[in-house]
Order: sequence, then structure tokens, then C-alpha cells
Amino acid sequence: MKLILLGAPGAGKGTQAEIICDKLQIPAISTGNIIRAAVKEGTEMGTKAKSFIDAGKLVPDEVVIGIIKERLEADDCKNGFILDGMPRTVVQAEALEQMGVEIDKVLDIEVPDENIIKRMGGRRVCSACGASYHVEFKPSHKAGLCDRCGGSLIVRKDDEPATVLDRLKVYHELTEPLVEFYRERGKLIVIEGQKEIGQITAQILKELEA
Ligand code: AMP
Repeated sequence: MKLILLGAPGAGKGTQAEIICDKLQIPAISTGNIIRAAVKEGTEMGTKAKSFIDAGKLVPDEVVIGIIKERLEADDCKNGFILDGMPRTVVQAEALEQMGVEIDKVLDIEVPDENIIKRMGGRRVCSACGASYHVEFKPSHKAGLCDRCGGSLIVRKDDEPATVLDRLKVYHELTEPLVEFYRERGKLIVIEGQKEIGQITAQILKELEA
């Protein structure tokens, strides 16, 4: 199963990707997590990407396409994968097609902008493994620590309110056109993203069985 999770920043893509990848036994691939790890390590790519991320802008297409091409060649992607946060532009979606990647389904998690802004204030991520949490909707078992790896939970710099507004603008301009792109290809499934996490997972799994 080759899946794409579409949706605005904060719609719940990462949360659902983490749950579904365990259930389907396929890797969840977050370009955001890959890029943040490169920033932390101080690699050449990470150093270049940092200013884009911090400003709420997209990292250039050619960088992201290079990252994903290499990642999808890894052995663990043979039986499928979930892409979280990629593609984010039509150019990236076309690049996937040119690589011969045949996507089965695209799940578009829809949440209105005003709710995204409210949610982002409570988002926390693990500084070590990138797992995502929310102080109200998905708290970790031990306050401030990741359930998966024990790493410390932090607020992402680009989750600050002003940057969230920029990211939403970028989403509507550059990423939302992908909804039509995949609808035209008969792959789009719209998921109502405002329910409880478990209910959204149930809806996604039902759609995947169909
Ligand atoms: P995310 O964790 O998916 O919210 O991504 C965080 C940031 O990483 C984005 O705001 C972009 O700056 C960058 N990024 C992640 N994925 C992509 C992508 N597919 N194309 C361009 N930039 C990306």
C-alpha cells in the first residue's frame, strides 16, 4: 500500500501516519522529520534548509525530491509506505510519477484554518525521534517526555503563531492544488479531520479496506 497524507500543517497527518504505519507494517516517511534531523546534524542540506523551515516556507523542490528518491529506494519501502508532508507542490507530485512511484490512495485530512491555529499552540514534538504530541488531544504518558524513545518534547520553532499563518498561506497556494491533482487521478479520499484521533484512524482504515 502506497499512501499519501495530504492536509494543512497541524491537520494531524503525522499523528495518523504514526498510528497507521504500525497497523499496516509499512514505514511512515515524514520529509519534515528528515529535514529537521539534517538541520540538527548540521549537514550541508540541513544548513541550507534551516532558513526555509524557520520562515515557514517550503524547502526547494529539487532538495525534497532528492531526499524522497533516496528514501524510497530503501528496502523497508518495498511493501509500501506512507508519505507524510510530501508531495507539497505539483512539481513534487509530478516527480513522484516520473520516478515510477504508483500511489494507491491519497488521504486528504481536512481541518478549517481557524481550528489549525487553535491546535498548533498545543503541539509538541520529540526532539530526538520527531514523534508528535498535543498537550490536550494527545498527551505523552510522562509530561515532557516521548513515549517512544524518552526524548524531551519541545515546541517547534515554526509552530509559533506568526509562522503558522505563513505556513497556512503556503499550504493554500502551493499544496492545496494537489487535492484536484489527485482527485483527477481518482485517488483522493477526503477525511474529516475534526473528530477524535481514534475516530479519524477508524475512518482512514475503513477507506483503505474499501
Ligand atoms: P512538516 O513537519 O511536514 O510540517 O514540515 C516542516 C517544514 O519542513 C515545512 O514547513 C517545510 O519548510 C519543510 N518541508 C517538509 N516537507 C517538505 C516538502 N515536501 N517540500 C518542501 N518543504 C518541505
